[in-house]
Amino acid sequence: MPELCSHPAHFIRQLIEADLEEGRIERLVTRFPPEPNGYLHIGHAKALCLNFDLAQDYDGHCYLRFDDTNPATEEQHYIDAIKADVRWLGFKWDGAVRYSSDYFAQLYEWALYLIEQGKAYVCHLSAEEASDYRGWATRPGRDSPYRERQAEENKELFEQMRGGQFAEGSCVLRAKIDMASPNMNLRDPVLYRIRHQTHHQTSDQWCIYPSYDFAHGQVDALEGVTHSLCTLEFADHRPLYDWLLEQLPVPSRPRQYEFGRLHLANTVTSKRQLKQLVEDSVVSGWDDPRMPTLSGMRRRGYRPEAIKRFCASLAFAKTDGIVERAQLDFFVRDDLNHHAPRAMAVLRPLKVVIVNYAENEVEKLTAPCHPEHPMGDRELLLTREIVIDRNDFKEEYSKKWKKKWSPGRRIRLRYAYVLEAIGSVKNEQGELIQINAHLIEHTLGRDPEDGNKPKGVVHWVSATQGKRATLRLYADLFKEESARTEGTPSLNPCSLQRVEEVMIEPSLAEVAPEQWFQFEREGYFISDRYDHSAEQPVFNRIIGLRDTR
Ligand code: ATP
Ligand code: MG
Repeated sequence: MPELCSHPAHFIRQLIEADLEEGRIERLVTRFPPEPNGYLHIGHAKALCLNFDLAQDYDGHCYLRFDDTNPATEEQHYIDAIKADVRWLGFKWDGAVRYSSDYFAQLYEWALYLIEQGKAYVCHLSAEEASDYRGWATRPGRDSPYRERQAEENKELFEQMRGGQFAEGSCVLRAKIDMASPNMNLRDPVLYRIRHQTHHQTSDQWCIYPSYDFAHGQVDALEGVTHSLCTLEFADHRPLYDWLLEQLPVPSRPRQYEFGRLHLANTVTSKRQLKQLVEDSVVSGWDDPRMPTLSGMRRRGYRPEAIKRFCASLAFAKTDGIVERAQLDFFVRDDLNHHAPRAMAVLRPLKVVIVNYAENEVEKLTAPCHPEHPMGDRELLLTREIVIDRNDFKEEYSKKWKKKWSPGRRIRLRYAYVLEAIGSVKNEQGELIQINAHLIEHTLGRDPEDGNKPKGVVHWVSATQGKRATLRLYADLFKEESARTEGTPSLNPCSLQRVEEVMIEPSLAEVAPEQWFQFEREGYFISDRYDHSAEQPVFNRIIGLRDTR
């Protein structure tokens, strides 16, 4: 089969191509199987891209299937958020959304089937006893005293479990495999446990729930999944996955393959840890722009295309590896460079009065929205009073700062005229609060006629026509050193900085939420999805212009 796309070949692609070529499968079927116990994070994006891209490239199907076997930790709002994230990334699942719980009745039948075959039994060992009986890697386990019970009795007990006659934790259904197996997963694993809980899909229909292992492979088989792709920690579960499929009268024979998990440096990619941050109110929610969740990245301003290109750059190897943040940043920045129109915002406004400019004049100037791409022009409004960034002015000239503005020197206003600083005003505390400047005539798009060229160019906004905005600047949520070591990383106390009273081009206040911009010389920003309005503009800094880590 020819390589159908630009995605690089990796071992999973090679396996699929061989399966198609040699007729082992007619059509590729994959699935993305999140458990609805949290929001999706950047690690999930890797799995999403893999499953959906493969289905697209080989003309197959990819399903979205919620692996919803634990009502204690799962919730409907997670399901809604996950669906929204998958759509936002631009993926379309095949047919309806699926749930493992759609198949609870069939799984129950198959559990009875295993019991009848003498391959499963009800066990009353407590959790501690069971773990003691299981042994450890170098010590074989011991058989449960309930292991040799007859099928008839097991069946009756299992039906009672299903009928709600036992308390949670009082017994489980276990597969009868091998308590001496070097693979701990084969030491009579749990197939069903009791949970007197209402399930978000099946309500109170069930009080016993299949384990991940008992549900996953069987549901793959029921849905005709051909390649069940999961992360490396499931490699040790594969013998169990295969064992169950061999024992049961399943309608198809899926295969499980594992690939390396994505670990992103300086952050956590575990739903449990992310949930903790939300519960402890360390962040404003799952979609806080500092979170490595997809909804957080969306709110931060990452475009789905950047995330997908980042995922395409990852290795699908049989090893886990830490990926540097700079690799993700590269794709985010590169994508925004092409797609974000340019605009001006002054973060630390310093007033400049152009003394030879008429009091009430508002001059319309035009500037391109993008230096390379045809995005049209925007209007800039020049007035007698403008603001520039405080950092662009130095009271003392020095060679080190020769591109900065200082008394007696000239500067070009971006897309406008050249100014010469002729004086300044300080307040009672001695702080600089105003610069007086002279506009050099005939310098729109031209050098000054007297040959005294400005060295630097600064961004600016009209002090009277511009609007005030709040900017939110983000840094890593965790301290760099701690995110590289084991355990819970320590938090960076400066991960969010709010900058008020920022002056922005007037038209920026009017933009809809979730619009991307490059604020010239400052970085990439997005109008906040929820908090931005024309009356109170709020922009989030997505990323700086250069890698400054
Ligand atoms: P977590 O540890 O965050 O709870 P999980 O693996 O339990 O993650 P699931 O909802 O079960 O989360 O994951 C759905 C799919 O996404 C699975 O196929 C899983 O292997 C994959 N996945 C989860 N985390 C990563 C990751 N960091 N890198 C790549 N794939 C991942
Ligand atoms: Mg999981």
